[in-house]
Amino acid sequence: KGIVHRICAGQVITDLSSAVKELVENSLDAAATTIEINLKDYGQQSLQVIDNGNGISSLNFKVLALKHHTSKLEGFHDLQSLTTYGFRGEALSSIAAMANLSVETRTVNESVGSNLTFDHSGVLISESKIARKVGTTVTVKNLFANLPVRSKEFSRNVRREYGKLVSLLNAYALIANGVRFVCTNTTGKNARSVVLKTQGNGSLKDNIITVLGINTFSCLESVSISLSDSCKVDGFLSKSGQGNGRSLGDRQYFFVNGRPVDMPKVSKLLNEIYKGANSKQYPIAILSFTVPTRVYDVNVTPDKRKIFISDEISILQALREGLQKVYSPSDV
Ligand code: ADP
Ligand code: MG
Repeated sequence: KGIVHRICAGQVITDLSSAVKELVENSLDAAATTIEINLKDYGQQSLQVIDNGNGISSLNFKVLALKHHTSKLEGFHDLQSLTTYGFRGEALSSIAAMANLSVETRTVNESVGSNLTFDHSGVLISESKIARKVGTTVTVKNLFANLPVRSKEFSRNVRREYGKLVSLLNAYALIANGVRFVCTNTTGKNARSVVLKTQGNGSLKDNIITVLGINTFSCLESVSISLSDSCKVDGFLSKSGQGNGRSLGDRQYFFVNGRPVDMPKVSKLLNEIYKGANSKQYPIAILSFTVPTRVYDVNVTPDKRKIFISDEISILQALREGLQKVYSPSDV
């Protein structure tokens, strides 16, 4: 059972950023308005996600990290109508399988909090009372330590993995409305350094200024393109001649209905049109798509980063025309 479980777990939690992504999404699902992510040694020694969300009911403690335990499907008869990030109950069980997992939590119904630890099979191995505010803290130590190959891979690529994580957290912070994000890292005996800090109460514009900086913002122009009767895209793109010469996809953020996603085809299209007007440059992009839920499906891959849009061809064509207008030669 152990091996099969670890193979399956490997599909949800493939690296540092997928682990943190799942935990952050759990915090968002729990209606947190403050999410703090603290790393030690870029997540290698430990990572911790602290939220002020609803907390976890003691009824769920035993099953919390067991495979397929989820509290999010109750009352939903239709996956399409699901608005939470999670519903498969795979994240905590996968993390438990590949790291040392502990959870501190308290709901409004309890006067004290609980500290829970789990073994690699997701079985609850200890439970004690602690003082804490309402919310949840998930601590993950020695990520991948029990998987020699992945652990070596992680050590070799720590800085790259960390970079990927920071850009993922940037994506959540950019789109967040009413959620404050703080991310810190502590390396060795150095003081903790703040990687990201947002107030989370601004518009997309305000979020861009806090997350990417005012200098970056001043190189952007706002765009709004109608893609069909019911689909549109809004956001910000590099002005002509203000892109950066950096690699493909660097500083491009895409969202569908408020959810950060990978959109390689959109990125490719955008780069192509932008480079046509600005040779050798790539645009910075923060693009937020609004589409009716019946048009798309996020449940294509376990990590929900890829999405399927049923009208993709016509939507991409409308986007192409819209972008060509934005970067038409008369603007250069
Ligand atoms: P899923 O998110 O797909 O339900 P997870 O394995 O990510 O599965 O989480 C399992 C369950 O643990 C969730 O359904 C939820 O009940 C609970 N949970 C996990 N993290 C949190 C959190 N930060 N706040 C409140 N509940 C949480
Ligand atoms: Mg989850």
